[in-house]
Amino acid sequence: MATAAFPGERPDRLEEACAVFGVYAPGEDVARLTCFGLQALQHRGQESAGITVGDGDTILIHKDLGLVDQVFDEDVLSHLKGDFAIGHTRYSTAGGGGWTAAQPHVSAIDDELIALAHNGTLVDTLPQRAWLANEGVQLYGHTDSEVAARTIGVDTRRTGHIRSGIRLMMQQLHGAYAIVLVTPVALYAFRDPNGIRPLSLGQLPDGRGWVVASETCGLDAVGAEFVRDIEPGEILKVSAAGLESEQGAKPGRRASCIFEYVYFARPDSVLDGDVVYHARRRMGRILAREAPVDADYVLGVPDSGVPPALGYAAESGLEYCDGIVKNRYVGRTFIQPTQEMRQMGIRIKLNPLPSIIRGKRLVVIDDSIVRGNTSKKLVEMLRQAGAAEVHLRIVSPEVMWPCFYGIDTDTQDQLISANMSHDEVCAHIGCDSLAFISLAGLHEAIHAEHGGFCDACFSGDYPVAIPESLQRKSFLPGQCVSK
Ligand code: SF4
Repeated sequence: MATAAFPGERPDRLEEACAVFGVYAPGEDVARLTCFGLQALQHRGQESAGITVGDGDTILIHKDLGLVDQVFDEDVLSHLKGDFAIGHTRYSTAGGGGWTAAQPHVSAIDDELIALAHNGTLVDTLPQRAWLANEGVQLYGHTDSEVAARTIGVDTRRTGHIRSGIRLMMQQLHGAYAIVLVTPVALYAFRDPNGIRPLSLGQLPDGRGWVVASETCGLDAVGAEFVRDIEPGEILKVSAAGLESEQGAKPGRRASCIFEYVYFARPDSVLDGDVVYHARRRMGRILAREAPVDADYVLGVPDSGVPPALGYAAESGLEYCDGIVKNRYVGRTFIQPTQEMRQMGIRIKLNPLPSIIRGKRLVVIDDSIVRGNTSKKLVEMLRQAGAAEVHLRIVSPEVMWPCFYGIDTDTQDQLISANMSHDEVCAHIGCDSLAFISLAGLHEAIHAEHGGFCDACFSGDYPVAIPESLQRKSFLPGQCVSK
């Protein structure tokens, strides 16, 4: 699902921060299970991958830059022996990229090692960095995950109980987090009080162990059966004593990231009881009712535009066709763009089928428009392939506000819809017409068991307060939100 217009370019989508995975299964090859889980979750981050195992005495770690199957081979996995493991794939948002930011993040609490893997972003960690400095704690990197780990260490050292350290972290740090953590003897999983980023619990067959994963597709990959989601503010501990749960922080306003349904999550994942694929099809149906257009074909921009395109076609009665083919083997991690590649642009990744498109009026369904550069290239590409008309239909509302909860849009000036009128965006992209699903329509499309979403990037209604200092840096002049 990486959506850079071409390899190496900053992607023109909201990009997910990370995936986390954890397994407690003594007697099983936990490193391999974690590797399988991370491969299923690869779409949530492609910059680095890492696994830490615990064996009752200590923890062992291997992490590196690259995709999961580039970082782990037979030799590496054969040396990661233990009873439980956590894993992580990273797309950098807070703290930059590079090897030092790769996770799991390892730190020491006195002579005991812990490792932590984090999906999400903590809002404004500067005050906490100052607090840690005051406590005599030195930070070695710039990531918010290290701030979380060091904060946990402070109270664990005082009380001798890591759960007390996790509780303190949950009280002192705010934002979005789904975290898995290992000590030499236990696996922990905990989630922010608003439940912004997803985290699910599953069980291996025949009671062989427990699994946690950012998405249920990670559970499926290792044959685990979905049990339930980790609750907002919950701390789950898995050890030789079994499964233990406690409320680490009072639950806040429920605010699952609505963009998970639009784009981040895999279509075969189930979020809050709703299958992402079906939610996307319903988005397409609603968009067809809200923004109909007379055309010959409906096309979906692979991958996440395809299910809503099928929904749009079914609702409108127009014919769906696969007029855009995606090259599934182009990553964006290691191939640096040359000038020549830039000129090739989007076609390295997406290629139209002129024999289908030529002379046709197209409705093109895409998941979002963030910076606008990919949409512009897409429309140009379709016109070059002979499209008579290109009507762009987007299954998310206009992205007007930056995200501070684990997505790489932290300033409003990079958001095309915050800087141009609807007509200007349409003219800039070069399509014949442009329409976005309404926010009410997007909510209607999602049949989650638990209502309560974060939709701040569309509405500016932030579930976790954004400090004014951050607003001043991130918002356009004159824009602010009250929270
Ligand atoms: S602002 Fe909220 S809805 Fe938008 S991407 Fe961030 S967490 Fe998701």
